Amino acid sequence: MQPIFTLDEVFSSARREYSSDDRKFIAAAFRFADEAHHGQSRKSGEPYVTHSLAVAKILADIGMDKVTIAAGLLHDVPEDTERTLTEIEKRFGSEVAHLVDGITKLGKIKLRGSREEYFLENLRKMFLAMATDIRVVIIKLADRLHNMRTLGAVRPDKQERIARETMEIYAPLANRLGIGEIKGELEDLSFRYLEPEHYEEAKKIEDAHVREGKSYLDRVMEQFKVELAEDNIKIVTINGRAKHLYRLYQKLKKHDMDPGRIHDLIAVRIIVPEIIDCYETLGAIHKRYRPLVGRIKDYISLPKPNGYQSLHTTIFGPEGRILEVQIRTPKMHDEAEFGIAAHWIYTEKERGGWRSLIFGKKASAEAKPKDVAWVKQLQEWQKEIGKDNEEFWQGLRIEFFKNHIFAFTPKGDIIQLPEEATPVDFAYAIHSEIGDHIVGAKADRKIVPLDYQIRNGQVIEILVSKERKKPNQDWLRFVKTSSAKSRIRHSGREEDAQAAKGH
Ligand code: MN
Repeated sequence: MQPIFTLDEVFSSARREYSSDDRKFIAAAFRFADEAHHGQSRKSGEPYVTHSLAVAKILADIGMDKVTIAAGLLHDVPEDTERTLTEIEKRFGSEVAHLVDGITKLGKIKLRGSREEYFLENLRKMFLAMATDIRVVIIKLADRLHNMRTLGAVRPDKQERIARETMEIYAPLANRLGIGEIKGELEDLSFRYLEPEHYEEAKKIEDAHVREGKSYLDRVMEQFKVELAEDNIKIVTINGRAKHLYRLYQKLKKHDMDPGRIHDLIAVRIIVPEIIDCYETLGAIHKRYRPLVGRIKDYISLPKPNGYQSLHTTIFGPEGRILEVQIRTPKMHDEAEFGIAAHWIYTEKERGGWRSLIFGKKASAEAKPKDVAWVKQLQEWQKEIGKDNEEFWQGLRIEFFKNHIFAFTPKGDIIQLPEEATPVDFAYAIHSEIGDHIVGAKADRKIVPLDYQIRNGQVIEILVSKERKKPNQDWLRFVKTSSAKSRIRHSGREEDAQAAKGH
């Protein structure tokens, strides 16, 4: 842990350029936070504002906008100091105040009831915040990350509870938002407190096998550079990637703790300018090194459930050693590491910030899967979010953290669904009117029943008819998405009400 004392540190490794106006705005927020927290200190004994600065630095590192960074600096002010939200609003505007207010509300989760109830309550607040402004949750993740980095200073009995909560709620949330950087670190930090012995065990294996692989990786990268140049392929960057410790341990467990059986223990990551270059690079590598059967993965055409895109292959590499190669564009790389935060780097200007992420135009082809999925999900959530519907929240929780599949409309739009979703779920994910009027479906051009379980990558065509006036209550037996469920139920209730009135 490195204490941070100056604002300059915040910008030292930022993902983007901040204008001098941006910097002035952020500096003013820092001075405000510094004065407000004056005299307070963290459990570690450091001045409290070091926490505010650390949160701001994490946000700058993932490329967030000045408003988010200012809100990150001020996030504990209304709760822990004499200064009020109204003062923040006057001084820094309603957008910053709105974000700070969101964090303050998220923080006020009472510990009551069972762990399950607490978990659900926590998640519910998180979704609410997310639907109003995702930046609230991103700041919360940064806050939690710094609290985890400094968890050593906290009472041991508290450490476990905080680490568990991080592993169960915050890391999955970071994963779902696609912020791989934060997710990996949160998992590793929690792992250390939750399973200290396994943590040490994994670390030893990492020392022995991964570090040793480093000099080999250096030679491989030099060779790849030469070979790709021969094929006139331009490389943006090439580097070795280290597997996060918790993930390494999970993999070791699956393979009898034998590192020799893990093929992606060491990996080379090649970043090339365009999608077409990715496929050319894959060809250039396979031309020279034999790939392992069944290990070539095209996550560009078929993104992973969290929207991850890349080409992966495992080859018998130079010197006859097995290694994994990952190939992607700079944009895919940023999306993989920074997920939803990458949108602030690429699209803030052209699309007018986060609002258009929810309501606006389509993004470029590359960012499309995640965008479309997020837009749809958030819109669906927003319809339900005001209602106090316990069942919906339970369902959402399962849906949110479940594995997802991608299916395509005949036009090629990507629809993200939970595993085992059916054509009815697909129809409701496109539009509630389509769901209400579905009479049949085709998967890859073959007629399938309405309770058919869609598989990743299938093209689904929905057949609708005006003859169908309303959804069939029997569908509740097999639909998987909470949006389809609540819509079908809603229509059922209307029907009952009308029947009761005698219509
Ligand atoms: Mn905090």
